[in-house]
Amino acid sequence: MDIFDKIIAGEIPSYTVYEDEDVLAFLDISQVTPGHTLLVPKADVADIFDYTDDIAKKVLLKLPVVAAAVKASNPDITGINIQSNNGVSAGQTVRHSHWHIIPRFDDDNLNS
Ligand code: 5GP
Repeated sequence: MDIFDKIIAGEIPSYTVYEDEDVLAFLDISQVTPGHTLLVPKADVADIFDYTDDIAKKVLLKLPVVAAAVKASNPDITGINIQSNNGVSAGQTVRHSHWHIIPRFDDDNLNS
């Protein structure tokens, strides 16, 4: 059982941004910017290379839903980055597929 399975099971606390029968979105414990959220499938899928069409439909269709919820949480959000790291060489540290939804602010200096 990986750490995101434990969050999905409620064994580790997290702040839920969105949830339905297929996915959970919760605040990242280490916020790149305020509101940094992770969208994860509830199914135990390691990375994008494990995606079936069914998983892809269930997860990817939720990206705009969760992005809208994140944006609505703070009027100062002027943009959003969406990223998924797949494989250790790509920076993946948790072997349970996840999508980073990272709010951007006019003065966040992340581009510099
Ligand atoms: P990765 O590096 O695999 O792309 O992203 C994993 C993310 O999971 C990191 O941004 C990290 O901060 C987050 N994370 C790791 N452990 C926990 C946890 O226990 N709770 C929450 N909310 N996020 C976590």
